[in-house]
Amino acid sequence: MRFRKKPMEVSAEQYTELGTPVKGMCANAHCLRSAPHVHTIHDNQSVMLALNDWVLPEPDGVHFYPVKPDIFAKTYEAIEERDPTEIKDGRIRSRICTLMSEMLDNPDDVGIFPTSVFMAKMEDFVLSEIEAAKKEAKDQQNRDG
Ligand SMILES: [Zn+2]
Repeated sequence: MRFRKKPMEVSAEQYTELGTPVKGMCANAHCLRSAPHVHTIHDNQSVMLALNDWVLPEPDGVHFYPVKPDIFAKTYEAIEERDPTEIKDGRIRSRICTLMSEMLDNPDDVGIFPTSVFMAKMEDFVLSEIEAAKKEAKDQQNRDG
């Protein structure tokens, strides 16, 4: 059988400076090995780190393994981290602002905001965006053949 790796995000740190620890490097004072190393998922085996190795977590999140920089460059690409304050889609933000303003500008006689109306409108909006995205994906598929 042949397999393809599923895309998956990982956090990795590169060991670039002798003596400067990176996440995953063994820091156990009682460990028999003194040179920089990690413990892998395979029987907790220790593997020496070389300068510029990348240290990646094993799927169990407890153990780590090193990856040579050239292999790392071939198999991984950096994920651009998004600024949460960045406006990704001005149209969507504008619609949400309008709905929130409608709610905040219209408290009832005792000062309670119409949150259920707001939620219903938000649901409609989100569902219509999902439908539009599905249609767009389908159209794209048809164009691609
Ligand atoms: Zn160790």
